[in-house]
Amino acid sequence: MNGIIAVSGMAYANAYIIRETRACLEPVYTEDVERELSRLQTASKECGRQLSDLIDGLKQDSGEEQAAILEFQYMLLEDENYFGSICNIVKNEKVISEYAVSKYSEEYRQELLALDNEYLNQRASDIKDIEERLLKNLNSKKDEAGNDEPIIVVARDLTPSRFVELSRGDLKGIILEEGGLSSHCVILARSFNIPCMVGVTGAIDDLDGAKTILLDAISGQIIKNPTSEKIGGYETYQREADKVKESLEEYKTKKTETADGKHMGVYANITSTEEVSALKGNGGEGVGLLRTEMLYMEKATAPTREEQIWFYSKIAKELENRPLIIRTLDVGGDKKIPYLNIPEEENPFLGFRAIRFCLENDDIFLTQLEAILSSCEYGNVKIMIPMVSTIDEFKRAKEKIDSLAKTKSLNVQVGMMVETPAAAIMADRFAKVADFFSIGTNDLTQYIFAADRNNKKVAHLNSYFNPALLRAVANICKEARKEGIEVDICGQAGEVEELIPLWVGMGVDNLSVSIPSITRVRRTISLCDTKKCKALVEKVMELSTQDEVKELLEKEKDKWL
Ligand code: PEP
Ligand code: MG
Repeated sequence: MNGIIAVSGMAYANAYIIRETRACLEPVYTEDVERELSRLQTASKECGRQLSDLIDGLKQDSGEEQAAILEFQYMLLEDENYFGSICNIVKNEKVISEYAVSKYSEEYRQELLALDNEYLNQRASDIKDIEERLLKNLNSKKDEAGNDEPIIVVARDLTPSRFVELSRGDLKGIILEEGGLSSHCVILARSFNIPCMVGVTGAIDDLDGAKTILLDAISGQIIKNPTSEKIGGYETYQREADKVKESLEEYKTKKTETADGKHMGVYANITSTEEVSALKGNGGEGVGLLRTEMLYMEKATAPTREEQIWFYSKIAKELENRPLIIRTLDVGGDKKIPYLNIPEEENPFLGFRAIRFCLENDDIFLTQLEAILSSCEYGNVKIMIPMVSTIDEFKRAKEKIDSLAKTKSLNVQVGMMVETPAAAIMADRFAKVADFFSIGTNDLTQYIFAADRNNKKVAHLNSYFNPALLRAVANICKEARKEGIEVDICGQAGEVEELIPLWVGMGVDNLSVSIPSITRVRRTISLCDTKKCKALVEKVMELSTQDEVKELLEKEKDKWL
């Protein structure tokens, strides 16, 4: 079975196949409208009670962000537009409640799906979730959740509230026929670290009748009723994974220091408010990159100043003074936002992206800057400009920020992503004007090798081990050091285990990584000796190919420790 790995890991457990509650799509007429309305009210009250329990439970377990997702559904029950419309269908069309619930939910869902916006399309699953809950309660079927057996859930899509209920039991893995990498279910699975594959077409039918499932979300395999040999392989993996997990536990609260006592911060890259509690739970020291694109992508029009103030301030407050680096809008390339009307381009990655767009669209840019500045009072906020390629660009952006900050008597640090070859080559000059650097190795690599980061055909060229990239990073670090500004890595290369000694040796100040990698990265840093890592960097600078670098790192693996 083919699918996309959304959260990597392995799981072996009983199959738990969820076939959806049948929607009632044909009208069933009734004379007793009063009875239907009263059934609807009872079902709605029961749904509200169940959701409140789930929300309270999550809040007690510090899952406030997850609770917020369910609060949206709770609100739907009180919403005139949603619940009120369902009651009106019963009254006006004299139909049973099930039909009214399914009819209106489907209309609402189709409206969301018709929007050219992936995030809003994903929200259609919240409507499905509340529809199913209402249908279940109308038929007063007992909810099957609360299973104590370890299970791997197989479903078409999993709604947030269903996820939360299932995770109360022993939820080991998730296989979804649909779902997207930015769906709420995947966001939740990631913060709970539950292996998950999405887009597995036909999973429900193919796994029908399975007693157990082995989900290998590392190599991308799903095995129905696995043989004892396969189970043996999984058990070996699990023993190792448990040992690793246990050994990493202490790094949640440990200071991040190299073996010789040098501090290096381990931050996280996030896109949503939902992730902050997971960040803190894993010991993240701050947010090294808040990708603000999601906030724009989830809307049909640009988020207002107020909406943005709420979003940035909420994250800033919850971080309790840990650093929060907010990156200004990085639209363009593969991040398309239809209402911004960026014309079709032949080479979008080389086109009207990020700061290039923002400098020509004051309405969007200044609104975002004002909102970010308004959130400064709630935490330790810094601003970061993406895709800078000329000094002039950076200065123009900084001038806009400085003049807005002046009106609020604020003094905010303004840094930049170093992710274009021009910025890497001119790092000495940029270091004189920027307050900090954060190296975006994802883009820097694709631009150095002229190889699209999303094109499998040229993936072999996009190597973080190639000396061309490593020399660029070393140069950026050297120039940052000279000017005494901080330099972080927020691209994917920052969390690649074998490369961490090089980042230590080059003098990187902080690594900003994905949340589940925080403890692992922290442990690797703690094994590094700065002097030995510096010597390793010198040797790497003499090499010519990525294979030579890999070979050296493997050969000298024990030497830098
Ligand atoms: C990068 O380019 O390395 C980066 C962190 O930004 P994004 O992946 O959002 O382009
Ligand atoms: Mg980038």
